[in-house]
Amino acid sequence: MKRKGVLLVISGFAGTGKGTLVSMLLEKYDNYALSVSATTRKPRQGEVDGIHYFFKTRDEFLKMIEADELFEYAEYVGNFYGTPKEYVRSQMERGKDVILEIEMQGALKIKEQFPDALLLFVVPPDADTLEQRLKGRGTETPEIICKRLHRAVEEAEFIKQYDYVIVNDKIDECVEEAHAIIQSEHYRTMRNMEFVEKLQKDLAKFQQK
Ligand code: 5GP
Repeated sequence: MKRKGVLLVISGFAGTGKGTLVSMLLEKYDNYALSVSATTRKPRQGEVDGIHYFFKTRDEFLKMIEADELFEYAEYVGNFYGTPKEYVRSQMERGKDVILEIEMQGALKIKEQFPDALLLFVVPPDADTLEQRLKGRGTETPEIICKRLHRAVEEAEFIKQYDYVIVNDKIDECVEEAHAIIQSEHYRTMRNMEFVEKLQKDLAKFQQK
């Protein structure tokens, strides 16, 4: 049976460990490809252009929008983020499960364009753990942390629009749970209609006997 790639959207509040989840999935299994987003945010220490993000000026980003190069884009805490079309298309054609690690507005736009995209939302075990994790990261100012926590309150309203919610308590378990969900998605009848139709056609020969 020919395997088609699943388009995956992974979202979660800042600080839930979705970045770690995504990098562990990529490291452990070879069926995944990560879409690299464009952003106007400044690189954090250790972030590399073309690997973590394509870092753009506001003008460059606006030009990408104009040229229709993005599947979706959204403004998040003062910066633009968007998904370039080209890479996602080519990886899906190769049968890869393409991961978009994007925030909620973008996720919902992807679902509109690709109704069979699989939307996963990663949550912390509880609210206090979220705050501790954000503070522990040490990459953001208290002001930004506060903004990101407020944003989490707003985002929580929309979790029910996602297909699955995954609790990241122990990261290893979280990786296995996410992988199992994604793999079972490949067996969904609607994703295998080509195979089913061929089987039906082949079966028809028994009626002629
Ligand atoms: P960060 O600045 O922490 O790297 O990312 C901030 C938020 O932007 C995260 O929730 C991340 O998932 C989201 N994000 C990253 N790339 C994209 C994108 O291409 N589109 C959208 N809509 N959100 C993105």
